[in-house]
Amino acid sequence: MPETTRTTTPEPSLLIKGATVLTMDPELGDLLPGDVLVTGDRITAVGPDLADRATAATEVIDARGTIAVPGLIDTHMHAWQVPLKGLHAQGWTGEDYQSEVFHLRERFTPDDIHDATFSGSVQMLDAGITGVIDFCHNVMSPEAAEAGLRAHRATGQRALFAYGMLGSFDATPEDHAWRLEHVRRLDEEVNKGGDGLLRVGLALGSIEYGSMARVTREIALARELGLRMTVHQNPPGQIRALHEAGLLASDIVPAHANAADDGELALLAACGGGISFTPEGEFGGGRSMTVLNRAHRAGASPSLGIDTHARVAIDLFAAMRLTFLLMRNVDAAAEREAGRWPLAHHPGVPLVQPRHMLEYATVNAAAALGLGADLGRLAPGRLADVVLIDTEPYGVALGDPAAHVVLQTTPRDVDTVVVGGRIRKRGGRLIDLDPTEAGAATRRVRARVLGSAAPDPGPAR
Ligand SMILES: [Zn+2]
Repeated sequence: MPETTRTTTPEPSLLIKGATVLTMDPELGDLLPGDVLVTGDRITAVGPDLADRATAATEVIDARGTIAVPGLIDTHMHAWQVPLKGLHAQGWTGEDYQSEVFHLRERFTPDDIHDATFSGSVQMLDAGITGVIDFCHNVMSPEAAEAGLRAHRATGQRALFAYGMLGSFDATPEDHAWRLEHVRRLDEEVNKGGDGLLRVGLALGSIEYGSMARVTREIALARELGLRMTVHQNPPGQIRALHEAGLLASDIVPAHANAADDGELALLAACGGGISFTPEGEFGGGRSMTVLNRAHRAGASPSLGIDTHARVAIDLFAAMRLTFLLMRNVDAAAEREAGRWPLAHHPGVPLVQPRHMLEYATVNAAAALGLGADLGRLAPGRLADVVLIDTEPYGVALGDPAAHVVLQTTPRDVDTVVVGGRIRKRGGRLIDLDPTEAGAATRRVRARVLGSAAPDPGPAR
């Protein structure tokens, strides 16, 4: 038999060259500078110089003057509220939120959910937020959920669509039943039959509205199918209540939990769980922020979210910055109260450095997404979600480059965004998504939901 030579076309790959690489991996550390090689949707190598690994099929990004970080992940976002930007700016009480924002929920048609989600997802990608837990507590029909999923598919952000279990406040048991049934079908279609970028999980009904009995049924379904869950944890004691019901595990991500006591934080830490904090909204809404420091100390892995664009910008850099400053403030207040003033360093004080915030938004957030072993670090074998932050023309901050990311960066500095090995933004511009389309989607929702109360339709383009 004659011998045949098989020529294989090399797999398309991407070489990010010459960046300051913050791998967020304890073994690899920082590379000053370094290269990241991506093959398919995974990172295949990280090192000081990978030029010899480039093939004819390799696209090379000259990343000098940038800081490479794992894609940022928002672990608590209500994308359906994105067109309501600013509507809750003056909000103060929980009732304000209900009357200004949440009551509009039932006016949203599936088209509105689609357009809002699309607009939010485009804005997140533009801002370097490659992954999100989209807490959609506006699934008033199966079509609404399908519309949200369609929007996520269109943008290609890495999303956990947390299917809202909370119907109308006077919802019937049948209203709950169709949601559970629909999730079962979507699990087959999206989780088992999809590309992995988009997944379906559960946004559990809040215990105070949905009852523990309902939430127990939701958790049972999620565990049967292996779905991630998240839950609004606003009134005190619910983490303990879940534990006492034998339901607490790391597959549930509580959001806020500002009232959690140290015992509850220890329960979360013991099961390997974490909390999604949304410090801008929580702080602005008068919540206690000492929980940030207590959670960090307890090892109840904090991650961060924007929560609602009705209150603040889609900007995780701002969330990291505020979280850092709040945690420093909590430490300082404790020192003052203990009579230790002026401030002095002592063991455990201050508790955190800027780099911890980047850990919250990458490593911890990946775990919250259920991808702790697959995402959140720039390391071989991990999914290739990468953000390059431009430090030019004004120059990088002195000292720890992670501090540049946390304290000196805005979404405007996001030069390049890669999701699952695909370049989505380059040179400061989205490649295959149009920001003006996102703006138009926002305006359509406003016109439909707010009618004559909608603000100026904006410039025609
Ligand atoms: Zn929320």
